[in-house]
Amino acid sequence: MKNEVQKLVDKGLMLPLMEEFYTIQGEGFHKGTAAYFIRVGGCDVGCHWCDVKESWNAAIHPPTAIENIVENALKYSKTIVITGGEPLTWDMGPLTTMLKSKGMQTHIETSGAYELTGIWDWICLSPKKMKLPTAEVYKEANELKVIIFNKDDFRFAEEQAAQVSENCILYLQPEWSKREKMSPLIVEYVMQNPKWKVSLQTHKYLNIP
Ligand code: SF4
Repeated sequence: MKNEVQKLVDKGLMLPLMEEFYTIQGEGFHKGTAAYFIRVGGCDVGCHWCDVKESWNAAIHPPTAIENIVENALKYSKTIVITGGEPLTWDMGPLTTMLKSKGMQTHIETSGAYELTGIWDWICLSPKKMKLPTAEVYKEANELKVIIFNKDDFRFAEEQAAQVSENCILYLQPEWSKREKMSPLIVEYVMQNPKWKVSLQTHKYLNIP
């Protein structure tokens, strides 16, 4: 039988909180914007190049009441980025409802692999080959951010771009460890296919989290 804490996690009233921090959004459309990041543990997508593998096992991150998460977030910023792990592992409804009731802007960084829950002002969809996004996330995404690890990822990026809405903004971003090799290819690709834009992990160049 599930314990009480697990039942609250299942309802999205508690979440396995890995870390939370105030920083600058380094990537994509909101690059350069000060934002409070809430990193929720739990992900079974399994990207081999994942730079937050510590997030995968939800059990090692303390279940935290969403009231406490919101209270902390309110001290710092109006822009809240929920990231992971894969935040849609959990029901994002209660947390985002509470954040919206306090006038916050809610952004999510997601692979889109699970049911879309929550109320979002901005959805950044970063699809992964191992577990493709659901139809609903494709439809609702505001930006599509495809990570380029190797040349085949350009083909994957086009496949993904064909699924999102017309207004969705399209980004190609070099995977950090491959940035020197892939960045010139991305620049060339974007010049030849200008519906795409380049996204860089500028927070890593700035040495901030
Ligand atoms: Fe890591 Fe994100 Fe891939 Fe999960 S979806 S393995 S958190 S990069």
